[in-house]
This record gives sequence, structure tokens and C-alpha cells, in this order.
Amino acid sequence: MKITMDTHIHTPASKCCTNPEQTVEKTAQELYERGFKVIAFTDHVWRNPEIPPNHWYAQHDGSALLETVKIIRSRKFPLKVMASCEADMQAPGQFGITDELSEQLDFVMLAPDHFQLRDFVEQPVPPVPEALAPLMMHFFRSAVSWGKAQILAHPMCPFSYFEIYDRTVELISDSEFLDSFGKAAEKGIGLEINIDCLNSAGKGEFNLDTMTRIFSLAKNAGCKFTFGSDSHNAEHFTHYAEAERFSEIVGITEKDLHPLVQI
Ligand SMILES: [Zn+2]
Ligand SMILES: [Zn+2]
Repeated sequence: MKITMDTHIHTPASKCCTNPEQTVEKTAQELYERGFKVIAFTDHVWRNPEIPPNHWYAQHDGSALLETVKIIRSRKFPLKVMASCEADMQAPGQFGITDELSEQLDFVMLAPDHFQLRDFVEQPVPPVPEALAPLMMHFFRSAVSWGKAQILAHPMCPFSYFEIYDRTVELISDSEFLDSFGKAAEKGIGLEINIDCLNSAGKGEFNLDTMTRIFSLAKNAGCKFTFGSDSHNAEHFTHYAEAERFSEIVGITEKDLHPLVQI
């Protein structure tokens, strides 16, 4: 399958985006010229009146994100450009986006496994596969039952714990995965194939078979998918060919794409 979508793109409104050139206009033009049909901008946000942000999220209160939304709404583009976000969870049941903000977006993308935010997101204690496996599943199930996100960003991809990722996933049974993925499928919640995460497997940070097993089970459970590069630095909009190879391995075709990215 040729990938002509990218529904996970950061702009300089995200402090992790180190490329000042990665604006809505320039990105849309570049990807249009490369044959893309659907893209979405997904800057980070933490907005929850009851849970104060950490230092990093204090810079992502949603105001810059809404500026990006305004730009998207005020322009005409030669491809489909959607306004979204990368919302976060501090712990199962604790979400960082308000209804008022999400109503201004085309869809909500939620990250259920930002374990790299060690001073903010609940951590596996102790940091071993036996603790990470149930916590990762708990985050995922909570994201699904919340029901306000249409897409889950890099599901089951525990950033900053890649050294124990393979063993962690081995501890989770097929039936446990199928049950959780089945609930996502029932609710029409799409799972993102995160190209940055795939690239980490390509660099040997964990075994690609781990992701292959996860996404094969998700497909068997009836889930639908999106592809996102998670581009945020100068080495951006790359590695789509690896994602195409991965979708061949898993057997993901156009009919497995989430309705949001079908044109
Ligand atoms: Zn993320
Ligand atoms: Zn991201």
C-alpha cells in the first residue's frame, strides 16, 4: 500500500519541534508535492483545570494549538488538512483535554503511553516488564473506555522503556490484546502506526516482531489504522517506505484504514 497520509505532524507550537520551517503552509505544500492526500497537525496539549501541568506541559496549554487551528481554517489547501492534537494522559482516567477545546478540532488524537515524561506520567514501579505490561494495558483500556479520542497515537509503544519493550509484550497474552483491541474496534477508535516508533525498531532499539505481533492482533480484532510520522525535527517526513513494508508484513491494506483518512 502506498502511504499518502500523515496524521501525526508537529509544528513549532510543540516545544519538541526544533524545525522552525515546519509550518502548516510549508508542510502542506511539501507533502502535496510529494503526492500526499491527507495530513493532520497534532501539537501537544495539556489542558485540565484539575490537574496542573508539569514544566514542559505548562508551555502547551492549548493557546498555540488554537492558533494553528485558526491558520488551518483560514487557508485553502490542495490536499485534505485536518486540525487535531496530541492529547495526553497522566494516569489511567486522567486526561489533558477539555470538551471545549476538542470541539474545535477535526478529531482528537490521544497518546496513552508517554512514559518518557517521567516527572508527570505514572511510571511502572519498579521499572521492569512485570510492572510495565499491566500499566501499559491499563492506560490503553482507559483511553478506549474514555471514548473521546478517535485515534490513539503510537499505541503500546512505551517510549523510554524500549530496552524492556520486547519482554514486556511477551508477558501479554494474545487474548488480552484481542480483548482490548476489540473494544477499540467496537468504538471505532483508530490505532496509529507510528513511523518514528517503527524507526526505533529499525535502529535496533527493540525487535520489529514485537510491533508486528501487536498490529497483527489489532488487525485480527477489527481495528482500523492511520499512519503518522510524528515529524518534529529536521529529519522529517521520512521512512514512509519502511511503514509501507510494515503494512505488507501485517497485511494492512486500504480497507483497513480508519474512515478519517479515507478519501
Ligand atoms: Zn507522542
Ligand atoms: Zn507526537
